[in-house]
Amino acid sequence: MSVATPLVLSLGNRFARELPEMAVAWRATEAPDPRLIVLNEPLAAELGLDAASLRSPEGERLLVGNLVPDGATPVAQAYAGHQFGGYAPRLGDGRALLLGEVEAEGRVRDLHLKGSGRTPFARGGDGLAALGPMLREYVVSEAMHALGIPTTRSLAVVATGRDVRRETVLPGAVLTRVASSHLRVGSFQYARATGDVALLRRLADHAISRHHPGAADAADPYRALFEAVVAAQASLVARWMLVGFVHGVMNTDNMTISGETIDYGPCAFMEAFDPATVYSSIDEGGRYAYGMQPVAAEWNLARLAEALLPLLHDEQDQAVAIAVESLGTFKRRYSAAWTAGMSAKLGLPGGLDEAVASPLVDELLTLLESSRVDHTSFFRDLGAAARGDVERVRGLFLDLATFDDWLERWRACGPDAESMDRVNPVYVPRNHLVEEALAAATAGDLTPLDGLLDAVAHPFTERPGLERYAAPAPESFGAYRTYCGT
Ligand code: AMP
Ligand code: MG
Repeated sequence: MSVATPLVLSLGNRFARELPEMAVAWRATEAPDPRLIVLNEPLAAELGLDAASLRSPEGERLLVGNLVPDGATPVAQAYAGHQFGGYAPRLGDGRALLLGEVEAEGRVRDLHLKGSGRTPFARGGDGLAALGPMLREYVVSEAMHALGIPTTRSLAVVATGRDVRRETVLPGAVLTRVASSHLRVGSFQYARATGDVALLRRLADHAISRHHPGAADAADPYRALFEAVVAAQASLVARWMLVGFVHGVMNTDNMTISGETIDYGPCAFMEAFDPATVYSSIDEGGRYAYGMQPVAAEWNLARLAEALLPLLHDEQDQAVAIAVESLGTFKRRYSAAWTAGMSAKLGLPGGLDEAVASPLVDELLTLLESSRVDHTSFFRDLGAAARGDVERVRGLFLDLATFDDWLERWRACGPDAESMDRVNPVYVPRNHLVEEALAAATAGDLTPLDGLLDAVAHPFTERPGLERYAAPAPESFGAYRTYCGT
């Protein structure tokens, strides 16, 4: 017997009201047979939503966009973007809708659907999403959240009962995504390209109010907004680098103003350490390779600065000078975040001499690369080494003599094993496990997906029985490639 209470959901439409030029009112395509695949109950509770209601037929219809709560105004959002360096003036939500904003626990967050049918921005696309890629976004975004990395969240994946044609015919699905907003660098590029400075200002004011309210009190609020985004992205990308995360498609339409990770397509966690690591089948030039991510982020922020120029100063020369100076803070902020994070991963004591710490880190990266060491295992096993069990970590290296020398110098710094275990995960969503879970789910078996979600939900707590979730892919898995998340 169902204990679901009737679904009551009050959705705001602030984006649609404040930025109507960037919002097209739209409805989801009818899903013939919605069936809930996975629901994030803790997140539902955070949003004040009743899980049993969301599991009811009415809830499933809500989660595919076919039941629109009273007063809600679902919209497709307009944005532009540089895709692999090339500018596209009109991208927008081709297969997604912003249902509206939910206010709960003092926070306002977007409720957004992905895979809900064609919109006026669909261009040649079918507006749909396949179950596998939507589950990939669900798993990886929830893993990132558990790792403490700012990210959009995933509330649910619902199979639509409609087939999607890709290389083969696949089951279609809708992902319900939760984000502190969907404002992107590409949103600002779009507003700027309209030539309407009043719109650009309204967008910037909206972004300040939602994400960087401190900027409103600054002497120059728009410069402060830009610098806040630079700071948030520098910190975010440093966090990615520290866990070996490769986003895969760092186009300007996939970079948020909030500093949350967004749009998990051909993303993956690096195993063998190599800055040239690329997983996306479409990234032939390695533009968004692991080691290129800080450069790509800075490049995107330069595009944001260009879009903001009319707000920075009336005189273009002066506006450019301000933008250049503010963008110049990226490298310093990134480097500070990365250095502090690496020091924590190595358990180094605070106040350790830079002249000791810095070569230790640099030499380690060279060693990891030359021995193709599994990134996640290395740092976790190094925690064991800090407790005296050095054999696990030594087993990862080919060039043992050089590593032993490094190990001795590192141990002499007095690393703290406890603190290392709090920042070095045991479980990340490894590529072969993600693929296994998605393939099984697509074939109707949700057991591997549940197992993987359970492992990555508590990444720092080693648990007996979960050994396979901590191990790198078997040789037979081969070189990993993912396709563009569609
Ligand atoms: P993404 O690679 O997911 O960030 O998407 C880039 C752009 O392509 C966005 O404007 C999407 O809305 C659009 N897009 C991606 N897949 C589809 C699809 N199947 N149908 C329509 N639009 C799509
Ligand atoms: Mg995108």
